[in-house]
Amino acid sequence: MASEQEFRAGERAVTPPEPNDAALTFIGRIRTPWMSKKETPRQGRLDGPECQIEILPLWLPALQGLEAYEFVEVLYWLHLSRRDLVLQSPKDGTVRGTFAMRSPVRPNPIGTSKVRLLGIEGNILRVQGLDCLDGTPLIDLKPDRCRFSPLGDVPDNAQSPD
Ligand code: SAM
Repeated sequence: MASEQEFRAGERAVTPPEPNDAALTFIGRIRTPWMSKKETPRQGRLDGPECQIEILPLWLPALQGLEAYEFVEVLYWLHLSRRDLVLQSPKDGTVRGTFAMRSPVRPNPIGTSKVRLLGIEGNILRVQGLDCLDGTPLIDLKPDRCRFSPLGDVPDNAQSPD
């Protein structure tokens, strides 16, 4: 992704409102092997490197029962993202609306990954499947949605670029 103030052909930014309209409480931090955006995968892989999710001690009781799940949805705050692009040009040279992409650049830079839960030791979850920088703030954890959502066909063209 282009750095702040840089634009690719066709990209457009807006001046967003001050981002103070919702207050999130980060519940921990994510530890990964990636120190720069460039080296971080665009999407996590379930056979990717082991990462750790550190939960703040306050929230430890909230982990009760999570160990029963093989897959967990992780929500995180892509804290180093710019937040003003409405049109973006991914590396393929096309131009798309931000909401038609999984780019980290979005008004509220929330990332989600389905991860494989390898184990829980105290306040540390060992997982595979993440794609965020070391130190990324953690927003939430949820059991694999497939266990709770209505099932249905996902169209073949439902993939979106990031
Ligand atoms: N899997 C998530 C999703 O689909 O919502 C995130 C996908 S996003 C394309 C992943 C990319 O975001 C990484 O390749 C990296 O360039 C960037 N990124 C990762 N951690 C970040 C952070 N803490 N702040 C800003 N950008 C980050």
